[in-house]
Amino acid sequence: MSNNLEMFREEVAAWVTENFPPGLVGSAMGLEGQSSDEVKADFELWRQRLAGRGWGAPTWPKQYGGADLSDAEAKIISQEMGKQGAFNPIPLMAGMGVTMVGPTVLEYGTDEQKEKHLPGMASGEVRWCLGLSEPNAGSDLASLSTRAEDDGDSFVINGQKIWTSGADISQWCGALVRTDPSAGKRDGISFVLLPMNQEGVTTKPIQLISGISPFCETFFDNARTDKKELLGPLNEGWSVVKRLLQHERQSQTQARSPSASSNKPSLQEVAKKYVGVDDSGKLDDPDLRVRLVEHLMDSQAHNLTVGRITAEAKGKVEVSAAASILKNSATRVAQGNSELTLELMGNQGIGWEGDNFNADELSNVRDWLWGKAISIYGGSYEVQNNIISKNILGLPETTQKG
Ligand SMILES: Cc1cc2nc3c(=O)[nH]c(=O)nc-3n(C[C@H](O)[C@H](O)[C@H](O)COP(=O)(O)OP(=O)(O)OC[C@H]3O[C@@H](n4cnc5c(N)ncnc54)[C@H](O)[C@@H]3O)c2cc1C
Repeated sequence: MSNNLEMFREEVAAWVTENFPPGLVGSAMGLEGQSSDEVKADFELWRQRLAGRGWGAPTWPKQYGGADLSDAEAKIISQEMGKQGAFNPIPLMAGMGVTMVGPTVLEYGTDEQKEKHLPGMASGEVRWCLGLSEPNAGSDLASLSTRAEDDGDSFVINGQKIWTSGADISQWCGALVRTDPSAGKRDGISFVLLPMNQEGVTTKPIQLISGISPFCETFFDNARTDKKELLGPLNEGWSVVKRLLQHERQSQTQARSPSASSNKPSLQEVAKKYVGVDDSGKLDDPDLRVRLVEHLMDSQAHNLTVGRITAEAKGKVEVSAAASILKNSATRVAQGNSELTLELMGNQGIGWEGDNFNADELSNVRDWLWGKAISIYGGSYEVQNNIISKNILGLPETTQKG
């Protein structure tokens, strides 16, 4: 690693020590929960300090609220925060802003759109949702039927979206709409940015078996957005969304469950605690030992591949169809980790509540269940395989026509 990066690492470590409110250690996942007033005030202070340095979205240009850093520098920030129990809450607070809509606005947006929308995402003050999926358009997204009609200075939007994460608490939405119904399936689609706080938008949270409602049905009933909010050219939204989905998949290449906390015990620690070791100090179950080692090797190979791609790109990763490969390998590693942890813990790994289970056990069963979503959101595992076969391996299109 270059001296510059080493110096940067020291600078980051010192800044985090000085600025991260110690009361927030270990409370990353309580961000959205019922925190005390004191914790809320600490969160706000930490958000302001991070946003002030441009570290909410560190690789974005300074003029739009970022810090103009490389991916390698951004990784150092998250590593040094992790060492001190700190975290960057801004991408979570911005919903789909920092990780998906923002990078697409940077690429396709007008100067006016960049100035208007990016700073609010980078500071975590404006939350975004993403309106792509519809009841009859999931994997086959190009079948979408939500319409946007030209009405002078604005578009009038009618239709329904589904699985819209955070729609009920977002101020803006990036939505895929049909602007030319007479054109072919993937033509005549546009990508618009639209305000959620208006009469024509209704959201209905979908309650899951666990009681939480991470996503909604979203209804557009004569909703409006200014024509200036068209992202990219009219009727070319399919190219815009393909790019957005690459950013989404790129952001999902970390091989850990999104709900996993940074101080979660390692698989080896869990194995030793629940399965025990034999006289020579080896895990006391040869079959599990082999599967554990295979998983750890897969996980290491995945992490090294992500690291190599970052290094080869000299710190600036070009997002491409290869994100589909990394998304699928991250999915396999994250789900494999949860499955193995569950198996190692045995009965203790399947408790939902109660004094008989400790915090790690209770959080593991939630991680395991939540992990099932990883192979669906951002485009399913099978759909990524289709993209890999067509766009990387050059095999013929066999699944979707039109
Ligand atoms: C936690 C979570 C959050 C989400 N957040 C959002 C959001 O914020 N905004 C949004 O717009 N959407 C969101 N989604 C929706 C997500 O993008 C879709 O669920 C996903 O694209 C799959 O679509 P579907 O659910 O309609 O399944 P379907 O398309 O009906 O697929 C069902 C099954 O068939 C398989 N399949 C379908 N077509 C093919 C094919 N051609 N080849 C092989 N197999 C195929 C799929 O792999 C899957 O196993 C979210 C989903 C989840 C789970």
